[in-house]
Amino acid sequence: VAKVVETVLAVDVGATNLRVALFDLGGNILHKEVVRTPTAGDDYTIAREIYRIGNKLLGRISKARLMSIGVGTIGPLDIRKGEVINAPNNPLRRFKLKEPLTRMFNVSTYVVNDCVAAVWGEYLVGIGRGYSNIVYITLSTGIGAGVIVDNHLLLGKNGNAHEVGHIVIDFKRRIRCGCGGLGHWESIASGSAIPRYALLRARKWRGENTDAFKKALAGLLRPEDLFSFWRNGDTFARSIVRDLIEVNAAGIASVINVYDPEVVSVGGSIALKNPDFMKLIFKNVRRYVTNRMPKLTLTPLGDDAVLIGAAYIAMRPPKELLKLQCNS
Ligand SMILES: [Zn+2]
Repeated sequence: VAKVVETVLAVDVGATNLRVALFDLGGNILHKEVVRTPTAGDDYTIAREIYRIGNKLLGRISKARLMSIGVGTIGPLDIRKGEVINAPNNPLRRFKLKEPLTRMFNVSTYVVNDCVAAVWGEYLVGIGRGYSNIVYITLSTGIGAGVIVDNHLLLGKNGNAHEVGHIVIDFKRRIRCGCGGLGHWESIASGSAIPRYALLRARKWRGENTDAFKKALAGLLRPEDLFSFWRNGDTFARSIVRDLIEVNAAGIASVINVYDPEVVSVGGSIALKNPDFMKLIFKNVRRYVTNRMPKLTLTPLGDDAVLIGAAYIAMRPPKELLKLQCNS
């Protein structure tokens, strides 16, 4: 007779990928599936996709019992309702998670910002173990953070107490962010902003007519192109990357200045794919910092940081979240 396997469902709703995994209560991934995040449909399209994949994963275990669901998602959030409102990085803009998932699976569902999930994972099983003050930052399609101060998870009135991507870094170039504001960190240095920023710089460029410059002028210089040109010594790419190093160093330093963490863990595709770039950023952070320098590192949880965090949100929901999202 097969033994009952107790599981939680962990979900990472990213700008690009939707990752769904089944974990056992020891924090091990049993089954995982990654698909493109739906960008068209209605308020329930993403929840229905999670339901389809979740059921498929549950079906692979002969006697699985689902205990709860944890979701880390792109924001911004209405945390009480567990839904996403006005997301700059998904054309759907708004979608519901907590209500439909609770109804479809008939278990408690907890929804937090993706970086909040990740910092919870770092705190319990990652680089933040044994510390009381931790920040997780993602450098990805967007830029965001999850923050724990004095062992207290920061959420805010709507669940957006840590939207560091909208820290104002540049008041000269007047670049408009996906959120509507001006000069935000994310509007210059996020994966989705880099081609636009490079185009702006290319229009005023008086240097060499390089391959990176030509691509940038056409609005086509994606982050992966930029970093590859940079490594090959392209002078335009080097100039752009120099800016991005300063912008990211100033952003990370601002986070350190505000939250006074012991550990800052950085994840997200831009950071994880470009450790050489990150090393230069980390070196420059110190110049902007007022507090004693924290331990500054790439996340040891890698690509699964949000997913692992979401599993622990499901298994050991933070008390700060339980106050906001009742599951009766
Ligand atoms: Zn913004």
